[in-house]
Amino acid sequence: MSSSNRPIYLDYNATTPVDPLVLEAMLPWFTEQFGNAASRTHLYGWEAADAVTKARKQVAKLIGAGEKEIVFTSGATESNNLALKGAFEASTNGKHIITIATEHKAVLDTCQHLEALGAEVTYLMPTADGLVSLEQVQAAMRPDTLLVSVMYANNEIGVIQPIADIGRLCRERGILFHTDATQAVGKIVMQVVFDHVDLLSLSAHKLYGPKGVGALYVRRGVKLTAQQDGGRHERGNRSGTLNVPGIVGLGKACQLAYVNMEEEHQRLAYLRDRLEKKILETLPNTYLNGNPTHRLPQTTNISFGQVDGEELLMSFNRIAVSSGSACTSASVEPSFVLKALGVPDELAYASVRFSLGRFTTEEDVEAAIQHVQKVVERLRAAVGHSM
Ligand SMILES: *Cc1c(COP(=O)(O)O)cnc(C)c1O
Repeated sequence: MSSSNRPIYLDYNATTPVDPLVLEAMLPWFTEQFGNAASRTHLYGWEAADAVTKARKQVAKLIGAGEKEIVFTSGATESNNLALKGAFEASTNGKHIITIATEHKAVLDTCQHLEALGAEVTYLMPTADGLVSLEQVQAAMRPDTLLVSVMYANNEIGVIQPIADIGRLCRERGILFHTDATQAVGKIVMQVVFDHVDLLSLSAHKLYGPKGVGALYVRRGVKLTAQQDGGRHERGNRSGTLNVPGIVGLGKACQLAYVNMEEEHQRLAYLRDRLEKKILETLPNTYLNGNPTHRLPQTTNISFGQVDGEELLMSFNRIAVSSGSACTSASVEPSFVLKALGVPDELAYASVRFSLGRFTTEEDVEAAIQHVQKVVERLRAAVGHSM
């Protein structure tokens, strides 16, 4: 899959390669079996509809849902938009939304959009380890709260929120509960019923499926206002001809994640722990960001003191990782997630997210450790000389 002089890919939280088995499952649906799943009058349509039904079952099974509760979308950005805007527009009894400051932009920007339309949004600040508490959520609830949206696992630091507890609280109060589970689905065991979730977003390209397809779980009985008008596909929740190959790929990706979950969880946690431990132990002035226990098995986010963040990222030429800063067109800003955790700016700039995945090997991790050690020591020595 990788030719030797390409950097080692350690950015699986940004996107994942399509698993060869997923690609194989998708291919016939581009060519021979190209039917429109909404065509009811001939074989081409019927077989496409059957393939979509099979995929719907595979997605549902991974999260413990019923197949009729799965709405296919173009990805988690759309799922989040549909969940929040759809719930707000369908609500008759409230305009208050609770979310957290470290959500993905697809939730935060949607909240901002809704604020312009009259919503009132409370943005909870997580504690220094990235977690929000049940007490915080409870204290923010109001009689007119219609929705709580808390991400399952954070994309930058990997922390896993107390979803089942928040879900139970919301259910008791009759408040809708949405979770952006894009980073958690396929990595950790989850059941929407145990978690008391009403709406859950997921995306294929974060779990070895193709880009541009995802799903929103909509619990039976939950009413959303559709965000685009058309042929009333997906039980009226999302109009538009179904992306049959993409949906087949998402289904296959979910099935593969389901059967390999336990084993892969252990393998990745072992590799991640090794990477993290080696870096933290051998390099002084390095710090782990986020709660060390309640988190995904394959993510680690580390700040490197005594180095310039930009220089650090540019010097990592043998590994593909994500930085703690986001380049906007005008400037480089430290990650808002790390800022919310109280990480000082210099350290936030010099933070690196390592995210491992299905095709990460032990050799990759060893090579990455050595590369990080070498680069950081070299940069620090250079700074030392200039002083
Ligand atoms: C990647 C990601 C998204 C966006 O998903 P797309 O399918 O790329 O739109 C949303 N939320 C989280 C937490 C993500 O990691």
